[in-house]
Amino acid sequence: MVDQIIPRIIPINNTAGALAVIPAVLQKANSETVDRRQRQLRDLRISVTDRCNFRCTYCMPKSVFDQNYPYLAQDALLRFEEITRMTQIFASLGVEKIRLTGGEPLLRKNLETLVAMLAQVRTPTGQKLDLTLTTNGSLLRKKAQLLKNAGLQRITVSLDALSDAVFKTMNDVDFAVGDVLDGIEAAKEAGFESIKVNMVVKKGVNDHEILPMAQHFRNSGITLRLIEFMDVGTSNGWNMAEVLPSQAVIKQIDAAFPLQSLEPNYVGEVAQRWRYADGAGEIGVISSVTQTFCHTCTRARLSTDGQLFLCLFAHQGVDFKTLLRSGSSDVEIANAIMNTWTKRDDHYSEIRGSHTPTVNTAARKVEMSYIGG
Ligand code: SAM
Ligand code: SF4
Ligand code: SF4
Repeated sequence: MVDQIIPRIIPINNTAGALAVIPAVLQKANSETVDRRQRQLRDLRISVTDRCNFRCTYCMPKSVFDQNYPYLAQDALLRFEEITRMTQIFASLGVEKIRLTGGEPLLRKNLETLVAMLAQVRTPTGQKLDLTLTTNGSLLRKKAQLLKNAGLQRITVSLDALSDAVFKTMNDVDFAVGDVLDGIEAAKEAGFESIKVNMVVKKGVNDHEILPMAQHFRNSGITLRLIEFMDVGTSNGWNMAEVLPSQAVIKQIDAAFPLQSLEPNYVGEVAQRWRYADGAGEIGVISSVTQTFCHTCTRARLSTDGQLFLCLFAHQGVDFKTLLRSGSSDVEIANAIMNTWTKRDDHYSEIRGSHTPTVNTAARKVEMSYIGG
């Protein structure tokens, strides 16, 4: 049974894609509700699969994610109708941005159908949601146009190096750089105007690829974002010694291609923005380890099997699949979301220790492939 923070007014029946009918007065109350650190709920990341065709060493190392790994069974996954219903309820509570992620989201069969359903969701003021996706790019050549036609607005592709040897060491499945670049090209051809590239930087592994990556994406209209290696989950053997602080990344790029800092696009933007002084475009750094941004964290995460997590480094989620499958109304689900949000006190990055616990400790953090990056 869910605690109610607002009175239940009308039991609401819902069908997939239909507008969730949360009474306006409750929408307003909820969209202004803050957590214990005065943060509003604004973004939702949805993991559509916990599986991936890569084995990036910093995310799904082969030693842990092998044939015996207990991936979710098909019937445990939220169905497209359930994801759409949750999204509509989140939208009615003030969420404006949706990011589809995983695992590798393009492995989810007919993902474009889900995108088309989510493209119908509206905010209380009738606006479309900002609908975006993060992918390893391996299936983009096949999927980019379908996704664009379905209503996906923006896309982020992960690529950690331009050198095949380095990239293959990191993806650990012998996947070639050229195929990711071809996926990015397919996204351009499909008409995506905003394309970003995420590069996770591991000191001593791919930091010598920073300049080649910067050089490659200058003047391309694509924004390269360099991400500090994070201690997500318990599998990736994270150690502070392998983190290259974003400040050092910026210093390196600035020495070759002078940079100027830019204001954030909006409050709570995760990446710090920089522009090339010669007008060759923009880059961003995400300093989740060395310059934390918990104080502006407005994100919630819906796992592949419908658990709601409010922090990337959480140990436990709140089960919404059961609510969805047991006849709860939209108002009840909205109540449960806000009840979870108002209790939230997460600020992990501000208090992290220097080592990730080992796989066998009781205090296991959930894996990123499960709750979505
Ligand atoms: N498979 C997709 C991909 O790789 O783009 C989407 C899911 S992945 C978990 C989302 C993002 O998280 C990727 O850009 C990935 O590089 C990043 N990521 C994964 N593990 C990370 C880690 N330990 N530290 C920093 N970023 C990480
Ligand atoms: Fe797969 Fe993305 Fe994780 Fe790499 S970062 S293993 S591509 S989910
Ligand atoms: Fe948000 Fe948790 Fe990351 Fe802090 S550590 S920014 S609370 S997800």
